[in-house]
Amino acid sequence: MLDHLRRSTRFVEALAAIMLGLGLWWVHPLSPSLTAVHVVPHPIVVLDPGHGGRDPGAISGSGIMEKHVNLAIAHGVAGLLRAEGVVVYLTRTEDQGPASFHQRSVLEDLIARSRLAQQFHATLFVTIHSNWEPSHTARGPIVYYDAGSPQSAQLAAQVSKALVPLLGYDRLTRPIRQLVLQQVTMPAINVEVGFLSHSRDATLLVTPQYQTALASAITHGIVSYLRSRGLLH
Ligand SMILES: [Zn+2]
Repeated sequence: MLDHLRRSTRFVEALAAIMLGLGLWWVHPLSPSLTAVHVVPHPIVVLDPGHGGRDPGAISGSGIMEKHVNLAIAHGVAGLLRAEGVVVYLTRTEDQGPASFHQRSVLEDLIARSRLAQQFHATLFVTIHSNWEPSHTARGPIVYYDAGSPQSAQLAAQVSKALVPLLGYDRLTRPIRQLVLQQVTMPAINVEVGFLSHSRDATLLVTPQYQTALASAITHGIVSYLRSRGLLH
């Protein structure tokens, strides 16, 4: 009798474990959608400071390296976006490209950056670079957007508009076919923050106050886009 009771208890325990397992299995996939009904989830922005590690990017006449400028501004944007309730991930947080640890090629490094945006389920992907051109006359930021995406064009327009007070003039956004933007499925832009080939731009781009002003304008543009689409309160 006692043995029978023990066996029954074990059976009930086993049944309870199975039911609990099934319960968790059923409840778990439903939970995120139930949550989404009541709470607007925080948007996710993946910021990509271009270059890093053994890849310096463009270099000014005075030796300023693009990789350092890009990283400083990306950190500024990250802090300001987080203060607005946006979840931010960076593809690199120091002087090291995401694929550099494995001594891979620049191409593989770019693909690794796009892949991170996909893995983080980014709402938006924003790569940050500094420009260079041989005549040394062009200056100021230019916002490029993924040529195949109307939403990317809208995001670029918002960021470009936010840069007007800093520039003192309105500069058109430009479509671009760039691997790092083409490899992602969310709206994606490349903010070229200025020209390292222009001596005044180069001086400004390493000035903390100018970096903060740029980061603030870029953040303002991203936040405007997210709010206009109901993705951020
Ligand atoms: Zn670059």
